[in-house]
Amino acid sequence: MVETLSIAVIGAPGVGKTSIIRQFIYNDFSEVYTPTRTRYVYRPSVILNGNMYDLKILDLCDTGYVASHGGPGVRNANAYILVYDICCVESFEYVKMIRQQIVEHRYGQHEVPILVVGNKRDLQRQRFMPRRAVSVLVKKTWKCGYVECSAKFNWHIILLFKELLGIAVARGMRQNHTSIRLQGALQRNRCTIM
Ligand code: GDP
Ligand code: MG
Repeated sequence: MVETLSIAVIGAPGVGKTSIIRQFIYNDFSEVYTPTRTRYVYRPSVILNGNMYDLKILDLCDTGYVASHGGPGVRNANAYILVYDICCVESFEYVKMIRQQIVEHRYGQHEVPILVVGNKRDLQRQRFMPRRAVSVLVKKTWKCGYVECSAKFNWHIILLFKELLGIAVARGMRQNHTSIRLQGALQRNRCTIM
């Protein structure tokens, strides 16, 4: 039995959402910023603790901010990755607002897993707030997971997906038992063992 988990990746334009997803799935990174023009769904499969999961990762459009209603696929996601740039305080404010919206309007389930991700860790000399302070705020006050990563250097990328999946599985996110898609999963670069 393979479980499907849909994950919406949300954050201000330019924080590295697409880079994180592409590093995770393709081990690929580009210095050139290409704003995501249309929402895109990636469907990798992963193995965690011997179980296989089909992920549906939603990469949102970077040309506008996500409105309060979220848009298709956002509202009914099983889990959220909220990305900000550790050097950009506005991008953190944005994550704060989105988290508030998810909690208030949520969005179906109780206790939906939310992982806050501070990207661009390689530029940490320019960070606007010490890691410890953000981590305490996010974990203790918001009750969300917190991971810092660098999509550029592939640092903590697998870890962050593992962290989110771990929370989702622990909370019994058994959405839909789908048909087995082993064939797709075994294609090159499609299946990550975490
Ligand atoms: P998105 O708009 O959130 O999807 O952001 P992108 O993934 O398109 O990345 C925006 C820009 O930030 C691009 O120029 C990337 O090369 C750069 N970028 C993404 N992740 C990192 C990172 O971890 N470190 C650094 N230094 N740059 C990054
Ligand atoms: Mg993008």
